[in-house]
Amino acid sequence: MPGMTLAAPMPDQPPFAPLSPFATGLACRCPRCGKGALFRGFLSLKPRCEVCGLDYGFIDAGDGPAVFVILLAGFVVVGAALAVEVLYQPPYWVHAILWVPLILLATLAPLRSVKGLLIALQYHHKAAEGRLDRSGSA
Ligand SMILES: [Zn+2]
Repeated sequence: MPGMTLAAPMPDQPPFAPLSPFATGLACRCPRCGKGALFRGFLSLKPRCEVCGLDYGFIDAGDGPAVFVILLAGFVVVGAALAVEVLYQPPYWVHAILWVPLILLATLAPLRSVKGLLIALQYHHKAAEGRLDRSGSA
């Protein structure tokens, strides 16, 4: 595909003891040492960990964080909107006042932690793009 780059090779993991990907990921910390920051901006990544030097070039979370957040937020907001409509039948402007802020809160608040979690899980499970073995074993 045009514009697609090969992911950097997965860095070696020892001598660091494996940390829980849930603890490091949800805290938006480096998946190897658990101390260095993962993000430079709201969702943009630093090039490497400033504590242990782990190169973040292997990271490829793609659309994963957005997908999980959309599914979760959609479940919560649509469920709440349906419940309010069935119970109270309010005018539509009440729905707008209730759900627009809830949608913003339910999507933006967890997005960073979910991205950190998916990155930590990618590191933990050494997930990387598939490569063809050309060593001639066939
Ligand atoms: Zn680190």
